[in-house]
Amino acid sequence: MAFFNKKVSVFSLIFFVTLLMTGCDSRPGREREQSGNQELRELLETISVDSIESNIRTLADFHTRHTSSDTTSDTTGIGAARRWIYDRFKQYGTLSGSRLQVSYESYLETDNPRIEEPTRIVNIVGILPGTQLESKERMYVVSGHYDSRVSDVMDDSSYAPGANDDASGTAAVMELARVMSGREFDATIVFMAVAGEEQGLLGSTYHAEQARRQQLNIEAMITNDIIGNTIKSTDGSVHDNEIRVFAQGIPPGDSLSRHQRLLLQTGGENDTPSRQLGRFIHRVGREYMPGLKVNVIYRKDRYLRGGDHSPFLEHGYPAVRFSEPHEYYERQHQDVRKEEGTQYGDLPKFVDYSYVGKIARLNAAVLATLANAPARPREVGIDVSRLENSTTLVWKANSEPDLKGYEIVWRSTNQPFWEHTEFAGDTTRFTVPGVSKDNYLFGVRAIDQYGNRSPAVYPLPVR
Ligand SMILES: [Zn+2]
Repeated sequence: MAFFNKKVSVFSLIFFVTLLMTGCDSRPGREREQSGNQELRELLETISVDSIESNIRTLADFHTRHTSSDTTSDTTGIGAARRWIYDRFKQYGTLSGSRLQVSYESYLETDNPRIEEPTRIVNIVGILPGTQLESKERMYVVSGHYDSRVSDVMDDSSYAPGANDDASGTAAVMELARVMSGREFDATIVFMAVAGEEQGLLGSTYHAEQARRQQLNIEAMITNDIIGNTIKSTDGSVHDNEIRVFAQGIPPGDSLSRHQRLLLQTGGENDTPSRQLGRFIHRVGREYMPGLKVNVIYRKDRYLRGGDHSPFLEHGYPAVRFSEPHEYYERQHQDVRKEEGTQYGDLPKFVDYSYVGKIARLNAAVLATLANAPARPREVGIDVSRLENSTTLVWKANSEPDLKGYEIVWRSTNQPFWEHTEFAGDTTRFTVPGVSKDNYLFGVRAIDQYGNRSPAVYPLPVR
């Protein structure tokens, strides 16, 4: 693991701290030997609710961020919005000694029933390269969509503040880029604000396609979409102690891969890589955000709906969606108006900023742990060459220099989360005596010397 960028001089830090009024915790002299957990807790404390609120309000002030809206104005429309996000990312990069690599990623969308004329779809991408040779090819992507809409998906000029959908997710990702780009992580983290979500997940689809074409090793993707409304308009009740994590099982489709078929044959349908990611987020949430209930939902997304994680799933990458516990449909995808005393529209005044801060902290804890932990073990199997009441697991060795070893985890087949853990040591084969694979589901995860654990991997039968 690695946390601090020692290349940032104290002088430049003081300068940019003043400039951005940030809470970036530098302390470049701190030793790496300190507890990773404590440093992560300090990182979480630097996430600023004020900074998130200010970013959501600024995004809402562009009047509309509809994908087909004006791109020439400096104050309104999606062009002004994306240039502002890009500039903020650039500032965060400067703060971190320019380690954050910021770019636009774009293509021309044509022939789309939700877009009248050929339109350039533009993502803003900030890449924080990993600092460990053995891990830097490993990538973790976190995104929010910065486009917005009103009732008519084709209406590209009406007031569409999109404060919750999805300035909340965009502002969370911006805050993550701000506080994390000043630090070092073993693996690479990609912060992304995407466009065209409301027109059919266009920006995220393009990114996922490019990643697959280049065979990029995206080990996990998280989309933050609708993470800020927690107050019910009808009775004023507040639901700010829960987050939904949508994690897909085996996807619907005409054909199954070998991996999916083996999952089904062995009762492992709840142990897809995305559900393991959900389980991992649940564990990290319990450790760092004890008051927050991480509700892992065994679905790709809300009922028959989708989000920016969908194209990543379709391209074979583990991906999940974060969303608030309840959605308020009088605010989502609505013209801003008053009808019979009810205020409709996605206005900044409905956003619970401290809740967005909470979810940003959960994101930071998850991403930092993923990026500092070793990679998930590869080629994990259960030895089925003979019948036995013990369970023997095998896997390929990891290559990270700070690897401590591997843990075997298991649970009853009808339980959602791991119930038992045993440290196997730095080895590639381990037998759990007297615990039968007939009655339990197993996983193997890698752990480093600082206690960072990878998500678990479901073992497939090997002879
Ligand atoms: Zn959305």
